[in-house]
Amino acid sequence: MSITTFLELKNVTRRFSVDQPLFSAAPRELLAVNNVSFSIEKGTTLGLVGESGCGKSTLAKIVAHLLAPSSGDVLLEGESLWQGSKETLKSLPRRIQMIFQDPVSSLNPRKSIGKSIQEALDVHGVGTSSDRKKVVTELLERVGMRAEHYGRYPHEFSGGQRQRIAIARSLVLNPDFIVCDEAVSALDVSVQAQVLNLLSDLQNDFSLTYMFISHDLAVVGHVSDVIAVMYLGRLVELTSAQKLFDNALHPYTQMLLEAVPVPVPGRRSVGIGQKGDLPSPLTPPVGCPFHPRCKHAMQICREVVPDWLEVGQNHHVLCHLYS
Ligand code: SF4
Repeated sequence: MSITTFLELKNVTRRFSVDQPLFSAAPRELLAVNNVSFSIEKGTTLGLVGESGCGKSTLAKIVAHLLAPSSGDVLLEGESLWQGSKETLKSLPRRIQMIFQDPVSSLNPRKSIGKSIQEALDVHGVGTSSDRKKVVTELLERVGMRAEHYGRYPHEFSGGQRQRIAIARSLVLNPDFIVCDEAVSALDVSVQAQVLNLLSDLQNDFSLTYMFISHDLAVVGHVSDVIAVMYLGRLVELTSAQKLFDNALHPYTQMLLEAVPVPVPGRRSVGIGQKGDLPSPLTPPVGCPFHPRCKHAMQICREVVPDWLEVGQNHHVLCHLYS
């Protein structure tokens, strides 16, 4: 099978201005995403993992073309999402879709779920009214719902069913790329597994490429081919899911792995909260951003940001231990 790069991020950076505190001369700036580069191969899943506040959701919005980067670029099959041809820019709302953590806020409570899913087809004038309804009922069945659910309302469904409805809605325009932002985080563990399996089946059936974002490394590991670990706006490790679980190199990745629940009687995982808090992105530490929490921190870590190193085939890490 030939491997083709589908999506490529090149040195993506995103800054936000923040309210200037009283009596402060300097304007404040939050660096939410700092010089991030990676690529996703067609038909595969890249998992992005990190604690809440690390910049994952800002990066998700940039990749989904909902927010422009301050600098850098995102290429979809070689064409810029921001400076591409008119045809490319026009096709993006159909090609890229996003699934959020909370389907309730993205479904109109006064609209039947069938009408909500059908809305995009109506806007784009796809087929006749009966064609559109047929597409929606088929999609409902494909995501494990029933055709007669078409006329029912969001409050009549459980959290897992509402996420299936959100998935059906994301597929209605036949996209080729879906960004899942904490898409299963609000669900019970058993329902999470069902929705993750559904996403895998749909990826095979519709040749989808995913970027799957979560704070939970166990969830990301379940669905990803490649995993990127993010800390305070920077990538700190990037490699295949297999290598990451077999041989995590960055101390932060190792800490996330220690927090993954262990199904062994008598053994306990270590909660991430027990390892200190994420520093404020407004005042990030000098040098390596992870040094205040790192048990391997050296003097150089407190002064110099490490280089992004390739330490093995397709295995990158941001850490002085490997330079
Ligand atoms: Fe720890 Fe230093 Fe590596 Fe940062 S650069 S993760 S502080 S060893």
